[in-house]
Amino acid sequence: MARDTDQSHDCFADEIAIDFPSVGHLVERVRDAFLGERAGGDDTHTTEVSLSIRDASKGTVVGMEVPLRGTCAPCGGRGGTWTEPCADCRGTGDSLVRHPVRLWVPAGVADGARLRFRVNAPHAAPLRVEVRVAIRTSAA
Ligand SMILES: [Zn+2]
Repeated sequence: MARDTDQSHDCFADEIAIDFPSVGHLVERVRDAFLGERAGGDDTHTTEVSLSIRDASKGTVVGMEVPLRGTCAPCGGRGGTWTEPCADCRGTGDSLVRHPVRLWVPAGVADGARLRFRVNAPHAAPLRVEVRVAIRTSAA
């Protein structure tokens, strides 16, 4: 039975705000199209998690850090003074902050599935995160 192998799941991470509500499978394509339209606007961070077969079948929570682009604190985002660029951000006014999130992986997730969510943290640019799931196979 042919099923969509490029599975997408709605997923949620705590400690962050997500700017779209939970949606059912039927509107998933609509949401993806919506996100696609906005792809040029936001940063996207792609990463991978490795799960055991057991965790993948039961569902699990994975802790990870995502890089958020925030305002450089030492120069307040100005990038330095008139005479000197800021040493911390090399004059960009941005700083990368590693922001911890916990990703709730749904039970029964498939190898190669992609989990997408958005991080909207205070004082940082919105970030789209795409997590590819790799399931560890064992010889046993
Ligand atoms: Zn700076």
